[in-house]
Amino acid sequence: MMWQCPKCGREFQKTNQDHYCGEPANTIDEYIAAYPEEVQLCLNQVRETLRIALPNAQERISWRMPTYWNKKNIIHFAAFKKHLGVYPGDKAIEHFSEQLADYRTSKGAIQFPYSKPLPLELIAEVAEWCCKSID
Ligand SMILES: [Zn+2]
Repeated sequence: MMWQCPKCGREFQKTNQDHYCGEPANTIDEYIAAYPEEVQLCLNQVRETLRIALPNAQERISWRMPTYWNKKNIIHFAAFKKHLGVYPGDKAIEHFSEQLADYRTSKGAIQFPYSKPLPLELIAEVAEWCCKSID
């Protein structure tokens, strides 16, 4: 049995699945605007960090997530109820496993809880590493 979100109509395996719940965003601005203000603050911090770390990348929405792209997807991020997800891929997570020891990781994603200050320098370092490693 699939669960259908009554607000956005998307279907999920898990009841009350935490997800992006709004009109599909076409831009990162639209994506960020769909969240409460305190979440927007975190999203904007990460966006600024990634813009500086990846000066040659384009911003776009891919897989329904804010994405940095330069011929290929470099890194994505996404907001959840209690954490921000950053998606650098499995290889990056393996490479940074010591620095990420305090965070939950799964399937190419790292979870940064809103309750802790975001490790922006580490996020920049991961993004730069992804950028160098995609080609
Ligand atoms: Zn929804």
